[in-house]
Amino acid sequence: MNRTRAWCAHEPRRSAWVPGLSVPSRSLEPVQELHDAPLAPLTTFRLGGPATRLVTATTDAEVIDVVREADANGTPLLLIGGGSNLVIGDKGFAGTALVIATKGFELDGTTLELAAGEVWTDAVARTVEAGLAGVECLAGIPGSAGATPIQNVGAYGQEVSSTITEVIAYDRHAGETVVVPNADCAFSYRRSRFKADPDRYVVLRVRFRLEDADGLSAPIKYAETARALGVEPGDRVPLTAARETVLKLRTGKGMVLDPEDHDTWSAGSFFTNPILTDQQFTAFHARVREHLGDGVEPPAYPAGEGHTKTSAAWLIDKAGFTKGYGTGPARISTKHTLALTNRGGATTEDLLGLAREVVAGVREAFGITLVNEPVTVGVSL
Ligand SMILES: Cc1cc2nc3c(=O)[nH]c(=O)nc-3n(C[C@H](O)[C@H](O)[C@H](O)COP(=O)(O)OP(=O)(O)OC[C@H]3O[C@@H](n4cnc5c(N)ncnc54)[C@H](O)[C@@H]3O)c2cc1C
Repeated sequence: MNRTRAWCAHEPRRSAWVPGLSVPSRSLEPVQELHDAPLAPLTTFRLGGPATRLVTATTDAEVIDVVREADANGTPLLLIGGGSNLVIGDKGFAGTALVIATKGFELDGTTLELAAGEVWTDAVARTVEAGLAGVECLAGIPGSAGATPIQNVGAYGQEVSSTITEVIAYDRHAGETVVVPNADCAFSYRRSRFKADPDRYVVLRVRFRLEDADGLSAPIKYAETARALGVEPGDRVPLTAARETVLKLRTGKGMVLDPEDHDTWSAGSFFTNPILTDQQFTAFHARVREHLGDGVEPPAYPAGEGHTKTSAAWLIDKAGFTKGYGTGPARISTKHTLALTNRGGATTEDLLGLAREVVAGVREAFGITLVNEPVTVGVSL
C-alpha cells in the first residue's frame, strides 16, 4: 500500500467544535519568556546548549500564538514536553524553544482527555485510581501526555495506539486546529504520522477510551510482567498490582526517573528494536552463528507479514557493549544495555561518540545498523 496516499486520503477533520479552541485568539497573559536560556536542565539527559528564546505556554491559546508567531516570522521552532526523548546539540537551538505546560485531566465515564502538558505517569496513576484499565502498564514512562502519540509510546505489552481515540493538534500547514482520529495517526512501533512529519503538528490534547473491568487490568501481555505477577499471559490482575509491578520492574532497569541515579539520566531506550525482512533475518542469523557459534539463537518476535523484530539490547550486549560500558562521562547504564547515560559532566558530543561506537560495533558484528529512538536537535548520529 502506498502510505503517503493513504494519509492524504484521510485529511484530519477540522475542529471548530473543540471547546475553547475554535478561534485561537491572543492570550490575555503574556507567556513566560527567556533569552539565551540553557536547554540542558529541560532534558532528562541534562544535555544541550541554549535556545535563542525559550517560551513556556500554559494554555492551548498561548501554544498556538507562539507557534503562529514563529511560523509567520520564519523562526525555527522546537517543541518541548518533558524533554525525556530529546538529544539537543551542545550549540543549542537557534530559534524559539516552546515548553508546552498546559494542564487538563478530564474523565467522563471511560473517556479521558489530557492536555498535552500533563505529566504522563501522574495521569496513568489517576486512571488506575479511577479503576480504569488500558494504560496501567505505561506507568513510569517520563514526559508529557502530548508526546505520547508522537512515538506511540509503549512498554510491557501496551502502546498508546490501543487506547487513543483522537489527537487534537494545531496543524501548522493549514493554520488551524484539527482532530486526527486514531485510524489516521499511522501508528506503528515507535512511529506515527506526527513523528513522520515533525514540523507540521503541535499536539494540544489527547483523547483515550479506557476500559472499566471492575478494577482489573487489561489482559497482561508481556511475559516478564506476567511472571512477576505470578499469572499467565492473557490473565487480568488488580489494576494497582499491574501498575506497581511495572514500576518495580522499570526501577530495577533504571527506567523510572530518579535525579540521584545517573542510570536514569537518559532517554530510556536509545535505539529501537530492528525490524528485519525474512531475507535480512536469514543473513543476520548467519552472522550470529559466525560471531557467537552454532546453537545461539537471537531473539525473534513476529512483526507482521514477512518481518521479524529482534532485540537491540541483545545485539549491543553480544557485540561487547555490556552494562556500564565506557570510561568517559557518557556510558551505558549499569542497569540496562539499551540506555546510554550521562554520568554527570558529559557533553552531547560525548554521548554521540558513545552512540556512534555502539552503532559501528553492532554493524561490524551483525551487519545491522541501529537507529536512534530519541529525537536529535542540531546533531545526528
Ligand atoms: C528513563 C526513561 C524511560 C523511558 N521509557 C520509555 C518507554 O518505556 N517507552 C517509550 O515509548 N518511551 C520511553 N521513554 C522515552 C520518552 O519518555 C517518551 O518518548 C515520552 O513520550 C517523551 O515525552 P516528552 O514530553 O519528554 O517529549 P520530549 O522529549 O519533550 O519531546 C520528544 C519529541 O516530541 C516532540 N513533542 C513534544 N511535545 C509535543 C507536542 N505537544 N506536540 C508535538 N510534538 C511534541 C518534541 O518536539 C520532540 O520531537 C523513556 C525515557 C526515559 C528518560
